[in-house]
Amino acid sequence: MSRLSGITPSGHVHIGNYLGALQRWVAEGGEDDLYFVSDLHAMTTTHNPAKLRALAGEQLAVLIAAGIPAERIFVQSDLARELGALTWVLECTASFGEAARMIQFKEKSKGQAGVRLSLLTYPVLMAADILLQGADEVPVGDDQRQHVELARALARRFNGTYGEVFTVPRAVLPPTGARIRDLADPARKMSKSTRDSAGVVFVLDEPELIRRKVRRAVTDGQSTLEYRPEDRPGLANLLEILAACTGARPEEVARRHTSYGELKDAVADAVIELLRPVREGANALLADPAELDRVRKAGAARAAERGEHRLQSALRLIGAG
Ligand code: AMP
Repeated sequence: MSRLSGITPSGHVHIGNYLGALQRWVAEGGEDDLYFVSDLHAMTTTHNPAKLRALAGEQLAVLIAAGIPAERIFVQSDLARELGALTWVLECTASFGEAARMIQFKEKSKGQAGVRLSLLTYPVLMAADILLQGADEVPVGDDQRQHVELARALARRFNGTYGEVFTVPRAVLPPTGARIRDLADPARKMSKSTRDSAGVVFVLDEPELIRRKVRRAVTDGQSTLEYRPEDRPGLANLLEILAACTGARPEEVARRHTSYGELKDAVADAVIELLRPVREGANALLADPAELDRVRKAGAARAAERGEHRLQSALRLIGAG
């Protein structure tokens, strides 16, 4: 059984990514699982090439420092040739209508001028990511489910039309983990692409900055501390972060603290200590570009090798070469 999960370098990795995804990847990752930095997916809307390149390197360093074995990580663009070729094969297997029906495309393109063609076709690239690696399961949230269904349909269609090549993947729901909200606006999910980073704690933030962001977290004027996510989302978010850092339940955490000041100090301490080894490890790797490059190339070579026979079979069966 193998799973494939990705993270898009559309911004710096934050504590929501860490608590909601990276930590789980480290704890649950099986031998055949693969993780990748999906930099090609960050090009479907306006982007800055130099910034994207830097963010992809940074994310790779963070994933490794977080404890994901380096041999299970690759950067998507290092397989651009393989993925580009397989995307073409799959675009010749998919219909225009299938791509145009994608809810994400409809939502993200609505009212936009100059929508990139890649915004329409990126679910096919995502299918190539999954099918090249022969992943059985793809843990995704609701917003990506339809894209995995497309990968499933394309695998079936290709296998039925040209010959058995692809594992038919399944979308699986990741176990419900922490859903971290923006500290400055608890109505909103913490996100890499939020413009104002006052409420976003990045994994590479210095301890003092983390403390400042947590101290300024938006809460409410009430004097008691209790876990009521619907009525008191700011407080609930802080309790959930502390709970996720310490392995306790948010209700228990609420009982252990008596004031906002004290709670915020505890949250800041816990987050700083949790992230310290990750920050230090990632910074050490980023300060040693030769080592990061060596690890990156090794990961890419393994992922390319793993997919090569599927790509070659698919090209041969569809009549190329
Ligand atoms: P993305 O940021 O969309 O590239 O997602 C990378 C991973 O982080 C996915 O598994 C997301 O579910 C997870 N993630 C993103 N934002 C949050 C958040 N605010 N809280 C918890 N998990 C998150």
